[in-house]
Amino acid sequence: MTVSRLLSTRAGERPEEAAFLSGEDGRALTWRAVAGHASRWHGLAPPGSRVGLVVADPLAFTAAYLGCLSAGLTAAPVDPRLTAAELSDVLARLRVDVLATDAADPVIRPEVDTVLVDLAGPRRIWSATTAALPSDDAALRPAVLLTSSGTTGRPKGIPLTERQLLHAAARVARHHRFGPGERGYTPLPLFHVNAQVMGLLATVVSGASLVLDRRFDAGEYWARVERHSPTWLNAVPAVLASLAARPAPPEHVTDRIRFARSASAPLPPATATAFAERTGIGVLETYGMSEAAGQITANPLDPARRRAGSVGLPVELDLVVAGPDGREAGPGEEGEVLLRGPQIVSRYLELTERGPERTRPARDDDGWLHTGDVGIRDEAGFLRLAGRADDVINRGGEKIYPQEVENVLLAHPGVAAVAVVGAPHERLGQVPVAFVTTREPDADALKRQLGTWCEQRLARYKRPTVVEVTDALPLGPTGKVLRRALRAELAGKA
Ligand code: ATP
Ligand code: MG
Repeated sequence: MTVSRLLSTRAGERPEEAAFLSGEDGRALTWRAVAGHASRWHGLAPPGSRVGLVVADPLAFTAAYLGCLSAGLTAAPVDPRLTAAELSDVLARLRVDVLATDAADPVIRPEVDTVLVDLAGPRRIWSATTAALPSDDAALRPAVLLTSSGTTGRPKGIPLTERQLLHAAARVARHHRFGPGERGYTPLPLFHVNAQVMGLLATVVSGASLVLDRRFDAGEYWARVERHSPTWLNAVPAVLASLAARPAPPEHVTDRIRFARSASAPLPPATATAFAERTGIGVLETYGMSEAAGQITANPLDPARRRAGSVGLPVELDLVVAGPDGREAGPGEEGEVLLRGPQIVSRYLELTERGPERTRPARDDDGWLHTGDVGIRDEAGFLRLAGRADDVINRGGEKIYPQEVENVLLAHPGVAAVAVVGAPHERLGQVPVAFVTTREPDADALKRQLGTWCEQRLARYKRPTVVEVTDALPLGPTGKVLRRALRAELAGKA
């Protein structure tokens, strides 16, 4: 199975049917248009050339992404919101041979071919002074070069082959029962694995359709749902929280929707409940990462079998929770989540700017990827994530999982967003400190209330020693809280 074959099959079966639609306006790409566009990428650059995709329009991105995949080029999607200086740096790190963009005023680098993309196809506007050569050897030729979110440090390059991506897309399509007549709505960033595999590729694999938006717009959200009638929603916890705090959508707008899928970051139980109560739509929580080409575990499609607070069961891959001694942890015991399966990346690419390109193995000798995530499985195998191993706070030997403390604080009506991190402490090593944002005008009153709130709900050692009220939490490009930025802030103060 290849993207090229799949596109021609779809175009043959249902040429005039809308495959990808723009949420904010009436534009749509039919299967015939997608296949036609993709064919125009063939021969644009030698196979294996790396194409930096800096495309803000979601339909143009979709066409270009599928074009690269079907032409044997490596698509390296980049956040289109970057400034010119940031972009230059990222393109150098990704070592792209071609820049494909829809920017009105593209950054031209002399050594990089530049191609303008719109729905008509790619159009070369600059030819590099040196001939473009494929950037890596054919054996390791990836279809997509993903960049991890950079939550724990410098983003990592994650090269995935077409086989790995299509395998992953087929798994999610099966799990969520996508197919003709089904339609997703995704207002999430397209430079991230989630919208690419769960969105674009699962749509191609299953012959469903997908509505895309360049950004999440809370005020417009339900109007767009009403216009396009999706059957499922692709969301992250911040999107669900924002919609839960707004007026409920009318029932006729949501009655075709089977579920709202949550991925990418911890979903506080209070958020899932508030969203379901406000909208009548059940939340299906999943767990994924770039290294696994997206989804790792998911809750069952049957709402009665979903478990609140759990990210569900592994979806067609091997997963073990490894205890401290390296052996598999029993039910209820915590340990690091390890993954194995054909879709797991084999090597990381170090995104350095200079010198020879370096890779390092992503899996251990037995083929396992160590995720750095701490998990616990229950008797039925459902996985609960406690957080990232690096974020665990060690308070004089007592381990504190920030997520647990955050969930307690978030359940307080005055708290809009929260992050708990370890602050250096002379005697105890670390103590938990909470950063909260609020809509309440009186920050001091809120802090006092939170003191009592935590006393009633958390063991003494887990209670934050300080609550800082702040205007906003530092977020990474995919909207995740950057705890390392908060830790650096605290280290600076210590
Ligand atoms: P980097 O690897 O660069 O530090 P990142 O890990 O955030 O960034 P991604 O691949 O986008 O990059 O995200 C994968 C991580 O997101 C997982 O390892 C996990 O920590 C977190 N995650 C994903 N889904 C969930 C979820 N449902 N609940 C909790 N955490 C989740
Ligand atoms: Mg990661």
